[in-house]
Amino acid sequence: MKVSLFVNFFVGQSFLISFIIFFSITHSLAVNYFMAKRKIVLFGGTFDPIHLGHTTVAAAAAERIGAEKIVFVPTKCSPLKDSFPEAGDDDRLKMIALAIAGNKKFELSNYELKKPEPSYTLETVRQFQAEYGSETLIYWLMGADSIDELPRWYGIVELIGACNLCVMFRAGCNPPDFTRFTAIWGPERVEKLQRNVIQTPLIDISSTEIRNRLAAGRDVTNMLSSLVADYIRKHNLYQSKVKP
Ligand code: ATP
Repeated sequence: MKVSLFVNFFVGQSFLISFIIFFSITHSLAVNYFMAKRKIVLFGGTFDPIHLGHTTVAAAAAERIGAEKIVFVPTKCSPLKDSFPEAGDDDRLKMIALAIAGNKKFELSNYELKKPEPSYTLETVRQFQAEYGSETLIYWLMGADSIDELPRWYGIVELIGACNLCVMFRAGCNPPDFTRFTAIWGPERVEKLQRNVIQTPLIDISSTEIRNRLAAGRDVTNMLSSLVADYIRKHNLYQSKVKP
């Protein structure tokens, strides 16, 4: 009698423990699945014109981040550049739309083009954060060539805190390294930037090179999507002058 009571008790306890373990595992899986933060990547630039370097590194970065989507955000003019893009806003938007058409994760936003200049990344990030809500993580992509300019970016300290600023590798540039900024931004911000470095493939293409080649009547076939190349040809873009 005593033995069977003990066995019943033991079996009951084991069942209870198994049930608790099963419940906590499925509960944490469900919480992870339903509560995991969305990850949205913003990719800003003049895209004058958009090229295969942009789309290749953006796809690689989205993969590494595990992002739901990448939003291309063409800018009217960089507050730090003294020149305007050569192609108009509308042409640049249309070329981006053509270049990203084949990738379901790619989207296009005219948010910065609609704003009066200058447009600051910090304001754009805050706008997207407000739109997507606090459960979404916002990432901002940039190439390693822009690192030296970062201290001059508007609200850079707030921007480092407001999003994940992800610097990608770029052909012709050193691997991204932020240690020289420790004195101005502090070790925590520098560690965050370093953690967010993305080792993207090195694609040796720039919009400057494309514009110069087009102005000189040279071939750009392997640098652009064929749809973008057709658009440029049809609208006679970048034919005028060779820029430095
Ligand atoms: P330009 O030659 O006119 O300066 P760009 O080729 O650098 O243009 P942008 O539109 O200025 O193109 O670039 C937008 C962003 O994409 C920038 O942060 C830039 O560093 C990054 N980027 C552009 N091309 C590449 C590339 N080939 N590899 C990695 N990052 C890139």
